[in-house]
Amino acid sequence: MSLDTLPLSLVLDETATTYETVAALPTVVERVAVARLAGKPGSKPPPGAADLLDADEYHRGLAAVDEWALFLAHVLLDELDGLGALPDTTPSRLRLASRWAEHLEHHGDAHLRYAIGLDAREHLLTLRRLSKRGTRVVRTASLCLDTACRGEYVATITGPEVDGDLVCSGCGSRIPREQWQRWGSRTEWVTPEHAAHLLGVSRVAVWQRAAREGWRRTGTRREVRYHREDVLGATVSAMQGTGVS
Ligand SMILES: [Zn+2]
Repeated sequence: MSLDTLPLSLVLDETATTYETVAALPTVVERVAVARLAGKPGSKPPPGAADLLDADEYHRGLAAVDEWALFLAHVLLDELDGLGALPDTTPSRLRLASRWAEHLEHHGDAHLRYAIGLDAREHLLTLRRLSKRGTRVVRTASLCLDTACRGEYVATITGPEVDGDLVCSGCGSRIPREQWQRWGSRTEWVTPEHAAHLLGVSRVAVWQRAAREGWRRTGTRREVRYHREDVLGATVSAMQGTGVS
């Protein structure tokens, strides 16, 4: 069924669901990083420009639907009895409008009726596009494993799906999917390098603190990992030691 023949109630209901999807997606969209990693110099916009354009499109898309859903809810609350209070959120306002779509479709004001039908489909198209944008790169907040690098890993995602390698935003090093998928435990156990990075100290200092403070550890020799809580506890006590809190 094409969008033009889809009943207004279904258009509004899908708009509510798609709005939730889009609002849940990360705002920061870094096509610039993708262009750089794809190795196509010359064909990319100035650094930062694509981020800004995308973020702007995202915010404008959602803001337009916010405003429109509020308008629809007010029309219904003004004209129909017993609908209760104005719903709190844009999706719930859209679902209210979906339930009362028949009123909107048969509205006595032909201009309003026409505008609502047109806007409904336009907003849904925008949200569908925003929810299925092509390749994007999203920050993971995981620091680069290379201690000398200040980058963090970014995940390439297609629509709501995460796929492929994680790539460092600083040095471009890659972590294959098979490896990062096993990182379920990375919130618990960190490498000495990562601990040094987190604390901003040398590896030697990490080993000294670990021994002195009895950090929990797993693995031996080169495979040793420290418990993140103990590492972060060291940060807290280091800051308390210097009077920063
Ligand atoms: Zn890096």
